[in-house]
Amino acid sequence: MTSSSSSSSQWKESPNASTSDETLAKSLSIWPLDAYNVDLLNEVRHKEYDNPTPLEIYDLVVIGAGAGGLVSSRQAARRGAKSCMISSELAGGDCLNAGCVPSKALLRCAKLIREAKKVVANTPNNNEYGISFRISNNNYSEPIITDHHQLEVNVDFPKIMERMRKLRAQIAPIDGHSRGDSLGTQTFQGKGVFTSPSTIEVVEHGKKLGDESNPKLNFRKAVIATGGRPIVPDNIPGLNEAPYTTNLSLFNLQQLPKRMVILGAGVVALEMAQAFASFGTEVTVLQRSRLLSKGDDEAAMVIQSTLQDEGVKFLSGVSVHEVTTISQATDDNLPLMSVSLSCAEHTESISLDCECLLLALGRTANVESLGLESAGVDFHHSKGILVNDFSQSVSNPNVYAVGDCVADVFRLTHMSGEMAKVVVQNALFKGQWRLSSLVVPAVMYTDPEYATIGKINVDENDNVVSPIENKEELDFYKAELQHNDRAILDSSDKTSFVKICCKKGTGTIVGCTIVSTRAGEMINEVSLAMKHNIGLEGVGRNIHSYPTLGEAVMGCGIQFINSRWETMN
Ligand SMILES: Cc1cc2nc3c(=O)[nH]c(=O)nc-3n(C[C@H](O)[C@H](O)[C@H](O)COP(=O)(O)OP(=O)(O)OC[C@H]3O[C@@H](n4cnc5c(N)ncnc54)[C@H](O)[C@@H]3O)c2cc1C
Repeated sequence: MTSSSSSSSQWKESPNASTSDETLAKSLSIWPLDAYNVDLLNEVRHKEYDNPTPLEIYDLVVIGAGAGGLVSSRQAARRGAKSCMISSELAGGDCLNAGCVPSKALLRCAKLIREAKKVVANTPNNNEYGISFRISNNNYSEPIITDHHQLEVNVDFPKIMERMRKLRAQIAPIDGHSRGDSLGTQTFQGKGVFTSPSTIEVVEHGKKLGDESNPKLNFRKAVIATGGRPIVPDNIPGLNEAPYTTNLSLFNLQQLPKRMVILGAGVVALEMAQAFASFGTEVTVLQRSRLLSKGDDEAAMVIQSTLQDEGVKFLSGVSVHEVTTISQATDDNLPLMSVSLSCAEHTESISLDCECLLLALGRTANVESLGLESAGVDFHHSKGILVNDFSQSVSNPNVYAVGDCVADVFRLTHMSGEMAKVVVQNALFKGQWRLSSLVVPAVMYTDPEYATIGKINVDENDNVVSPIENKEELDFYKAELQHNDRAILDSSDKTSFVKICCKKGTGTIVGCTIVSTRAGEMINEVSLAMKHNIGLEGVGRNIHSYPTLGEAVMGCGIQFINSRWETMN
């Protein structure tokens, strides 16, 4: 089955693009319209698109084209089902276009800048790495060794952003419409809206719900995978009128802001605080309580002090009173805003001027104007669709939901993808795959990285619910990386650690926190152990290559083994 009736015309680069195409690209939050963004859009949002003729009935119709939607519709097709996916804006969703992919591209450059600065900061008497720079003369004959004080790391921000756009475009085809066609699932462009418990209308761009020419889809099973969007508070005077930035517009910046104020102190806030501080922006993070409010205290302290050393300012107990727009952006200049606030560090109210006000206060589920009432699908207006342990709507058994639009699950790309696999199995193959069986690692890609691991909680009726406080009694095993040979040899991870907790008196692992330059890689071992009930002793007996940071994970296991050693009297 292919959507062979679809056809498209290509996006064009500015200045060859029409004004209406430029307006559309901006409204999709993809800007500038350069060769890389043209390649991206030609994959994930066809400019003109003939939707395929709907089949009489689908085994699976998926609303949304992010990680959750792509995996559900494609895996269903690969397993023989008649499936289709509805994409209202950009296939690839947040992860490809305005999340994981662009943010990690920036973090790579930021890290390189910090490393280069370390080298440049070396003095002849204090040259830890034995590296310094020299400048050759123009004909590259005798090199002139410069005085180290003359060297500076020069950051070309437009080039950094161009690299990000290039790499994003390189990754895009895997999420693009043609790839879906080749895997046998149809793609509809438009907004998916339920019109009954078993029908969905694709509201094509520029048309209204109920327009006769909109495709109407009948389904046996449907998946809601509509993702989420950044929270924009409505109780801060002046904010709504201000030219604030969210993750949707951040990656379109073409000029480096001199000053950035970040509202929020979670993962997105801290990753971007570190990146932009490395690029040379004066960054202030405004936190209400403390960093990573639901995270590990010790990890929060290590990360805060690392970022502070790199120049990020933190204000705590913040209450924002008002945002004033001093000037709007022009073709040549970023906007200018002033944020007035009170905080624990100052007795009086203060004002911070900034060219970029980044809102990173968390995310809310996309559940509005989806016709959920017509479909009989229960939801919470900000948390999302209510599902049971099988990722199935608690109120309409033929509808499932995956990813960021679901209440009380981890909002991560790999979570959306895994839920999609659960749903295909449960919806189409009478599976009984439970969300509560998933072990989900989560990583913040600051340097050092911060990795944790968790499980989905269900109540006595098998419905997914918010985590309850863990009242289990626990034993903790902790290995500090300052004693790890690889960390010593790399001059890294001086304050990093691995902390594994087990059910009291046993080796059953129930949680783990890792702070380390490689925490994201190291947590995968713990995830495997937890998923397959390999206790901490098994982790300790698993031989690790020397010298690796992962030996610190084994170190926790060895502590567990040693605590039970037989000893001679
Ligand atoms: C800055 C940032 C960095 C991040 N970094 C990471 C990371 O490093 N690792 C990680 O695991 N996660 C990361 N995340 C989180 C990750 O991006 C999300 O968890 C993931 O994209 C969720 O996928 P999804 O499919 O559930 O939703 P989305 O990606 O939001 O996709 C939903 C799609 O549905 C479409 N849609 C909505 N309504 C309709 C409708 N009615 N009809 C048709 N289509 C519709 C939307 O346009 C969108 O394309 C990051 C997020 C941000 C903001």
